[in-house]
Amino acid sequence: MQDQLSSADLMALENEYGAHNYHPLPVVLAKGEGVYVWDVEGKRYYDFLSAYSAVNQGHSHPKIVAAMMEQANTLALTSRAFYNDRLGVYEKTLSEYFGMDKVLPMNSGAEAVETAIKLCRKWGYEKKQIPANQAIIIVCGQNFHGRTTTIISFSSDPDAKGQFGPYTPGFVSVPYNDLGALEAALEEYGDRVAGFLVEPIQGEAGVFVPDEDFIPKAAAACKQRNVLFIADEIQTGIARTGSLLRICGDCSCGGHCEKQETYTQPDILILGKAISGGLYPVSAVLAKKEIMDVIQPGQHGSTFGGNPLACAVAMAALEVVKEEKLAQNARALGQRFRDRIQAELVEQSELVSLVRGKGLLNAVVINDSPDSKTAWNICVKLAENGLLAKPTHGNIIRFAPPLVMTVEQLDECCNIIIATIKSFEA
Ligand SMILES: *Cc1c(COP(=O)(O)O)cnc(C)c1O
Repeated sequence: MQDQLSSADLMALENEYGAHNYHPLPVVLAKGEGVYVWDVEGKRYYDFLSAYSAVNQGHSHPKIVAAMMEQANTLALTSRAFYNDRLGVYEKTLSEYFGMDKVLPMNSGAEAVETAIKLCRKWGYEKKQIPANQAIIIVCGQNFHGRTTTIISFSSDPDAKGQFGPYTPGFVSVPYNDLGALEAALEEYGDRVAGFLVEPIQGEAGVFVPDEDFIPKAAAACKQRNVLFIADEIQTGIARTGSLLRICGDCSCGGHCEKQETYTQPDILILGKAISGGLYPVSAVLAKKEIMDVIQPGQHGSTFGGNPLACAVAMAALEVVKEEKLAQNARALGQRFRDRIQAELVEQSELVSLVRGKGLLNAVVINDSPDSKTAWNICVKLAENGLLAKPTHGNIIRFAPPLVMTVEQLDECCNIIIATIKSFEA
């Protein structure tokens, strides 16, 4: 029955019966494999969104699917009322993989951010002796950390925030990539500041890459004042930006970056999205022992958090990242992508202002107002030409394919993108 429905039928169903909380491109996908997805009519596309970087390992990666099937057939969910035989192994693996002490497992990214906020506040009251209910967490303008009521309370996006008040207090926003503003806020709020929550590259905002020294210097300023440095690597992490984490800086080890000179040690690290290779919602908060240990039984939790299926999927997904050297591949391919777009579009076309990014998290800025339809129309045309990408903030197009792409595939994709955008020239 379902097989007989056309793309138009299926879009009409979503429109009729679903909440209109997204504005999708008019493409209905039915199958995915590696860097490709297919629509219900059988047309094949390169996926240049990767589910907002959740599918870094490629669609339906066979190794992750196998681990998932095996665990689903064995034991999927116990709740945390009991121990399970995968969780401890997973927590050890994850801690060592990212050079942290302890893990608190959750499901979605927003839940992990909420968890980090609670952990930071509790640490602030217990360890830093901040007076009750006075803790401040500093955040950045144009941030994206998820969609829950607390998180949108410190968003600067009117769509995300408007008419959802009253808002959660306790957050102070400073401009992104502005060390002086951060230091001024640290000064102004003094001993009340518990943490600084930041994306090492702002993905949703349009792939804003801060100055090389912003993150290390921000972390140092926090450390100096006993303020927790909290890195939200939900989108930038797991090899996306050409290193295991973006806080590894431009290090090419592609594996365990703790020992690299460029590494910025976070107090709390937030992961989600590609930690499961897109097979299952898995997120995690990692922290140093003295921070994580402020949380006691009953103070935080989730029915599904840390379930055996999630553990098995995430462990396989992280193995794939190392085995297939995805960080190195993202670094090499990302450089090639930006070089080609720079030479063949930015320098040749009035329509493209710039290309920016790290690894395979890149954005092309269209030289038109954010209110124009140009970027949307380009994305519709790209889809017709076999490549899926989505505009963000009107005139910015994000390009983030699965990291399992080959050089030949990337070159073909660059050809499609360049030819499509050039077809919009006046
Ligand atoms: C996607 C994202 C989130 C939210 O993750 P969800 O799984 O959608 O709740 C939080 N922070 C960043 C940086 C993200 O990219």
